[in-house]
Amino acid sequence: MADMVPLWQCPMCSATVPPQVSQCGACRTILTLSDLDALMNNGDVDPEQLRKAIAGFRIAARKQNDFNVQYHLGLAFINLNRPYEALVAFRAAIFFRPNSKLLQAAVQKLERHVANLEASLQEVGASVQRSRPTILVVDDSRVQILFVSRVLEKHGWRVITAFRSRRNALIASATAGAICAAPAR
Ligand SMILES: [Zn+2]
Repeated sequence: MADMVPLWQCPMCSATVPPQVSQCGACRTILTLSDLDALMNNGDVDPEQLRKAIAGFRIAARKQNDFNVQYHLGLAFINLNRPYEALVAFRAAIFFRPNSKLLQAAVQKLERHVANLEASLQEVGASVQRSRPTILVVDDSRVQILFVSRVLEKHGWRVITAFRSRRNALIASATAGAICAAPAR
């Protein structure tokens, strides 16, 4: 009989859900690790509820840290598309349950995802760095160089500095690939 099926509480929002359900009907958290892509793109989820759950798991971890706390913490983070924090929590969960194949597979996939994210962030950073206009600041006052550089950097310039001499200016621009020069005295 259907009403004999034991019920279970969502670890994120405490709503009563049928056992083995993959997504909570109340807070929309995906509760299984089998599809990481779905987890990371869970646009349905109630973020406020998950933030509350995370705060609760963190308190619980300080009292009694165990597999369940870290596993659910990881699930909450990944439903919020916060893969770095999810990875930290899942690694902690593996510490408590080193033989969990599903968790190991998820952690490996998450590690690759995070590595790809970092690589693309570095690429974006490098292209921003390359595309920023560069200016060479030369002066015989170090304080003046510092001051002018800060102002220019605030306005988006990549600043190369040289103290005093034409020779230093040439060296600085050659090593940094400067494209224009401020008046030298
Ligand atoms: Zn829920």
